[in-house]
Amino acid sequence: MSDQSTTDNAHVQDRFVPIPASTSFKNLSGLRFGRLLVLGYVGLTNKRSTWLCLCDCGTERKVAGSSLGNNTKSCGCLAREELAERNRRKNGPPLKSHPEYWIWDSMRRRCLNPQDASYPGYGGRGIGVCPSWAKSFEAFLADMGKRPSSSLTLERIDNDGNYEPGNCRWATRAEQSRNRRNNVFLEHNGRRMIAADWAKETGLSKSCIERRVRRGMSVAEALTRPSGFKKRKS
Ligand SMILES: [Zn+2]
Repeated sequence: MSDQSTTDNAHVQDRFVPIPASTSFKNLSGLRFGRLLVLGYVGLTNKRSTWLCLCDCGTERKVAGSSLGNNTKSCGCLAREELAERNRRKNGPPLKSHPEYWIWDSMRRRCLNPQDASYPGYGGRGIGVCPSWAKSFEAFLADMGKRPSSSLTLERIDNDGNYEPGNCRWATRAEQSRNRRNNVFLEHNGRRMIAADWAKETGLSKSCIERRVRRGMSVAEALTRPSGFKKRKS
């Protein structure tokens, strides 16, 4: 596209030719186009006026006058820098440098990998990961956003629900453990189920059962006493 070999200062003057009087093009010498300073006219190339330019980066380059100020604004260094910047933005920092990556990774392991030590409490009891999160860390990060603080953990709002958009948020460890405590197993009539399952069976709300047990009511009473002391939305 251009000749970058002509940088020998001893021949600077030799490289310029007088602008013919009969031409219609303007003398661009001394003008600046982006990073390019026009040093002088060097003749016609394919019938186009050609100018030797010095780029801010120190590179000399011959450029057609018709290109100056249009698409050519540097020796090529500007386009290279922009490409590098675009790539940097597109690729972002390496995935594993995100703290969220490891949170995503362990979420997948405890739900999807039966070999994982935590699997019985997650995948083993039916807690899943939505397909897009299971497949892609980027999708997870896009939905959840960056963790606002390193003191926050990934929490499911409904502790019996899946890891999926709408059921997850960044929560403090205290909020998280409160939620986890809610998930205590209750034994009644020889069966052991979590409150959410008892709720489905008894028609009481999960929160009602949990509140009763938390306040010291026996499991049997918590599961059999009719609701209606307080209005609960359920
Ligand atoms: Zn340059």
